[in-house]
Amino acid sequence: MSKTVVKFGGSNLKCKEDIGRIIQVVRNYKQPVVIVVSAFFGVTNYLIEALEKSRLDENVSKNTVSYLLNLKRETLEVHIQDNLVIEKILFDIGVLLDELGRYLQGIALTGDASPALEDHVLAYGERISAVFLSGILNFAGIETKVAFPESIGLITDGDFGTASVNFVRSTSLVREALSHDLVYVVPGFYGVSQEGKTTLFGRGGSDYSAAAIARCTGAPSLDIWKDVNGFMSADPKAVDNPVQIKNLTYNEAAELAYFGAKILHPRTVEPLSAPHIPIRIFNINGETVVDKPLSIVSAEKTISMGIVKSVTSSQEFGILKLKGSGVGAKPGILAKVTTALHHAGINISSVLTSQISINILLAKKDLSTAYALVSAIELSVVGRVQIIEDIAVLATVGNGIAENYGVAARIFTALAKNGINVVMSCSGASPIVSYFLVAADDCINAVRAIHEEFFEIIIKTI
Ligand code: ASP
Ligand code: MG
Repeated sequence: MSKTVVKFGGSNLKCKEDIGRIIQVVRNYKQPVVIVVSAFFGVTNYLIEALEKSRLDENVSKNTVSYLLNLKRETLEVHIQDNLVIEKILFDIGVLLDELGRYLQGIALTGDASPALEDHVLAYGERISAVFLSGILNFAGIETKVAFPESIGLITDGDFGTASVNFVRSTSLVREALSHDLVYVVPGFYGVSQEGKTTLFGRGGSDYSAAAIARCTGAPSLDIWKDVNGFMSADPKAVDNPVQIKNLTYNEAAELAYFGAKILHPRTVEPLSAPHIPIRIFNINGETVVDKPLSIVSAEKTISMGIVKSVTSSQEFGILKLKGSGVGAKPGILAKVTTALHHAGINISSVLTSQISINILLAKKDLSTAYALVSAIELSVVGRVQIIEDIAVLATVGNGIAENYGVAARIFTALAKNGINVVMSCSGASPIVSYFLVAADDCINAVRAIHEEFFEIIIKTI
């Protein structure tokens, strides 16, 4: 029987007490598991900053090394009552930090870093937390071994910053490498190209690492431990009485993640949906028992009473608008624009067009670059290129949205009753999503209005 793959994220690695809960969870599995771990909370951001600053300042290297070496010393001292063991773990972390320090010095000397070097440097957060966690678990009597992606054969397509796993090459290597009867701790966030270069899976990519490993090993489930209650009918920070969503299909989970739910990385379901490996989500601050997941993402299709299972919102998108009286009829505009965006590595989240305007939904962080690129293209029928930033994207997700009439009508009516204007909307791009844009200021009220419309009866019946 292959091992369950268990993922602990940065939010499970915030404070000293978190480690005690992780030890308890791993014990509760009763059998060896494969652990995939993220960097400590905030460390990837810290490394991104260190990398940028080291281009200009040679002192960044030694400051980074000493900060990271001391970051979790206290936690080690709380959980390990043996100085020699602590020193050994710090020595192993020190070896990694020594390498990191030399890379940062190299960047300071040349003032430059290639995409390959950037990926290699940013993965140190995960490498360090894997060594740290393995050491702590060993001391707690759980036999573990660190399994670096480069030593287990987690091979990617080689795309720096946005890699995907090459399952044809990786599956048997990874399966074999993780087959012994002990707990493995794998640093998430990266794999290696066929040439052995570190390639990152993108921000938040440890979920995808864990999913890829679960697929390679044919795990019975991927268990993701969070510090929140799994998938809910809406963000608990926005509404008073969110409902727990126990069952979701892979597609529902992927769409919710795409439109802003922070529970899973949007790519987590990719490797798991074909082999039907379920994703089980737990809250580490709740019960640490391993047989009561809060949400289960699987192939099993359930339809919620009001069709809509969850409403999510995001203010991380903006619109690039191309206006002109004939943009809808002129062939080739989108081809030119999307090619330019593609070459700049900018991902397009959605496109909504009409005769007089083309609206391209992009991540807010990419808007100004996209604006500069598109403005520079010779497009005779485009009179004006415009950026719209102060919007929120709301998505309602649920199996059955496309097959049942009345969902969009209920959404629009609920918003109208609350005086909220819909700036743009789209249904049918996916059979399980209706999404729309409102002014950023209306975001919370819009989430509340829709949640009330679809969940009030359910809440009252509960
Ligand atoms: N540490 C990485 C990040 O912050 C990967 C992850 O947390 O999943 O993006
Ligand atoms: Mg994370």
